[in-house]
Amino acid sequence: MKGIKPENQMRVCFPSRSINESLARSLAAAFAALADPTVEELCDIKTAVSEAVTNAIVHGYRDTMGQVYIAAALYPGGRLVVTIRDKGCGIEDVARARQPLYTTCTTGERAGLGFAVMEELMDRVRVRSRLGEGTTVTMERTLSPRE
Ligand code: ATP
Ligand code: MG
Repeated sequence: MKGIKPENQMRVCFPSRSINESLARSLAAAFAALADPTVEELCDIKTAVSEAVTNAIVHGYRDTMGQVYIAAALYPGGRLVVTIRDKGCGIEDVARARQPLYTTCTTGERAGLGFAVMEELMDRVRVRSRLGEGTTVTMERTLSPRE
């Protein structure tokens, strides 16, 4: 959304502790709630953000600790853009990682559906990643206009 000024914005970072998954959900919900979304929209945004933040924590910073960065912006017309960034291990092959059921988890705990869920719930999901440098997930959703 280059050149277009957001109506509202936030930036937060926190350490990659699993306890902060719920913090991230609440933060994203509180920000989106200011734009008067429907209950369904709010639920979808919380779930999508939660998937991306969980990925940053469990995959990006697998055996380490680091900072997770969340930025959110609301643009005219109800377009919400949320970015989740980590400076962790990065993804070798993003196209493959985005395929449903693809997971590098070997314990059977993970289904490989996080990216599929994000894509289902948001209008657009972009993933930029570099091995050894980290991953940025940018998600967009236009909130329905309210009378
Ligand atoms: P689920 O989300 O269903 O618990 P999952 O996390 O393995 O399982 P996805 O969220 O779709 O599934 O992610 C697919 C794969 O992409 C992961 O297994 C991991 O290898 C890689 N990945 C995703 N996010 C990151 C990240 N931030 N940093 C490094 N690797 C990532
Ligand atoms: Mg996941």
